[in-house]
Amino acid sequence: MRGRVVFLGTSGGVPTLTRNLPAIALRWGGSLFLFDCGENTQKQLMRAKVGFKKSFYIFITHMHGDHLLGLPGLLMTLTLQGRRDPIYIFGPKMVKTFLEEILPLVGSPPSFPVFFREVSSGEVFRGSNFIVSALRTKHTIESYAYRFDEVGREFYFDDKKAEALGIPQGEIRERLLKGEHITINGKVITPEMVRGSKRRLFSFTYTGDTRPFPELIDFVKNTEVLVHDSTFLSSDIEEAEESGHSTAVEAANTAKAASVSSLYLFHISARYKDPKPLLNEARKIFSKTFLPKDLDMIEIR
Ligand SMILES: [Zn+2]
Ligand SMILES: [Zn+2]
Repeated sequence: MRGRVVFLGTSGGVPTLTRNLPAIALRWGGSLFLFDCGENTQKQLMRAKVGFKKSFYIFITHMHGDHLLGLPGLLMTLTLQGRRDPIYIFGPKMVKTFLEEILPLVGSPPSFPVFFREVSSGEVFRGSNFIVSALRTKHTIESYAYRFDEVGREFYFDDKKAEALGIPQGEIRERLLKGEHITINGKVITPEMVRGSKRRLFSFTYTGDTRPFPELIDFVKNTEVLVHDSTFLSSDIEEAEESGHSTAVEAANTAKAASVSSLYLFHISARYKDPKPLLNEARKIFSKTFLPKDLDMIEIR
């Protein structure tokens, strides 16, 4: 397993007895990526047994309380646990102000360095095998969607082809994997000659709160896992427009237009005692739609 997506909180605005406020964890290798941090996120992380990783990156979409009021509590717990490894937080500028104001009022300063980076549309962070980018969305205040893309080899190495070509094991194969040309017994071997089947590169996009708009379709294009604002049923479209949210149908239209692999409806209004109709109306447009519950997870193979 390469990683795991865990839905920690799937409600929007207010929590319900079964749904917490927005937060999604992405475990990728030895790193933890947290997208939004609604109240109770730290407890949901414990329930999901995600564990606080050495490399911990937090991406906040916007300054509405349902998306970040869990952050001070989470940082306080990590301080009480004596964490020393840094935490990287990304989001609108006010997130930094918020933490700088609130943390001294409620406890001791964090026991670890907190690095903050203000985001704007475009690439926001790059690791050895991934890129995270952001897109300003259409909400009532400044808000961002985030996209995680695995980067790296697009093909598997074909051992049978390599053997047939007489390529020995070890360092020479590593060089081919890196894209170098090598020479064996006077014969030039190119990476294409040992190329196997295509390797799927994982991608994940979380829209945060937003109305649908054309640039969002480009941004989520071909993503494997799309988590989309789906606050309302289409019968409540006027409210969606007023509050800067999407209906399940609008989420499905974006998923379809962007040819994503799967759509996960998220930020469900607490008004729907039974949110099944959201799933039903979205599935009529985009069949690979899911309605995750809190603590549901997707294993990335
Ligand atoms: Zn919200
Ligand atoms: Zn909001």
